[in-house]
Amino acid sequence: MKPDLLSLTYQELEEVILSFQQPRFRAKQIYQWCHQNHVASFQEMTNVPKPLRDSLENQYLASPLQMVTYQESQIDGTRKYLFSLADGNLIESVWMQYHHGNSVCISTQVGCRMGCRFCASTLDGLARNLTAGEMLAQVYAIASHTKQRVSNVVLMGSGEPLDNFDAVIRFINGISNPLGLQISKRNITLSTCGIVPKIYELAQCNLPITLAISLHASNDKTRRELMPIANAYPMTELLEACKAYFHATNRRISFEYSLVLGVNDSQEQAMELGKLLHKDFESCHVNLIPVNPVLERGLKQTLPAEVVKFQKTLEKYGISATIRREMGRDIDGACGQLRKRYRDHTANADEKDSTASLPKNNK
Ligand code: SAH
Repeated sequence: MKPDLLSLTYQELEEVILSFQQPRFRAKQIYQWCHQNHVASFQEMTNVPKPLRDSLENQYLASPLQMVTYQESQIDGTRKYLFSLADGNLIESVWMQYHHGNSVCISTQVGCRMGCRFCASTLDGLARNLTAGEMLAQVYAIASHTKQRVSNVVLMGSGEPLDNFDAVIRFINGISNPLGLQISKRNITLSTCGIVPKIYELAQCNLPITLAISLHASNDKTRRELMPIANAYPMTELLEACKAYFHATNRRISFEYSLVLGVNDSQEQAMELGKLLHKDFESCHVNLIPVNPVLERGLKQTLPAEVVKFQKTLEKYGISATIRREMGRDIDGACGQLRKRYRDHTANADEKDSTASLPKNNK
């Protein structure tokens, strides 16, 4: 399979252009066609000489993915996109509108190997890492389709970003490039289940992005019940790494806490979490999210009144906590759910009939 051109940095693209005996300025034209105009084929690059377009076409993919379908929430306009990659793998991305701007949530891997109990992305394990170009193309495809400016990007779709470290760093540099969409690094959030050595490595990259930690528990015992990664790194080590990240970047850490009925939502656990974070952080933020039930997992949502009680308890310890609105509740909002449903349906349908089983745009 041909590599995708979007994955190349500007400098690497310049080297390719020079190796074709072409003037350096062509790199800028081509980079902008790809990263600002989001062309689907090299032949659309009308100010680039035809022989150069042909050479690029012979060696590279101009666009590494295609939209298969999308669903739009009747409640809040959130859209969930399903894309197919050049090798036939499927990934999901989400478009959300907030008062502070439009946000795209991207996948960083096909599937995931972290095994979190509540997560649909991990049900079939990891298929492969995404390239930086495949991550960029999710944002570009959605920007083109919605015809609206994307101001925030969150790496919170399927996959564990720190398990695909180099491509993710490349993506962050690409999406913030002034010759591309120029999304401020401050408007990028990377969410991780907590791979401790990689958090230290990220701190050293000195990128002013927001780090979100999927904590989901107030002690190791409960965390291990929900997240296998907790067996590798106890919470004390994870929180040490978070402090180091905060000191290196001066960026406030966000903690995500998905509330699961009867597992991590008691008042004792709220107090334990409040104490823990109060002790370790002068400033941090907790996002409370009622767990999005995944059929195969058998976990239930905490009741709304209990979620509010949990929030109030954290606030008593001086911890800022918000209850995340469940965006796109009516469209399989949680990670990996649309992809899973699509794959299950197409696997059950016979060839001729397979389009009958596509999830429909419920517009
Ligand atoms: N692997 C990364 C990023 C992807 S998941 C991570 O673990 O952070 C993005 C967030 O959604 C994580 O906080 C994850 O724990 C949470 N999540 C996944 N499935 C969920 C579900 N069914 N309900 C609520 N939150 C979920």
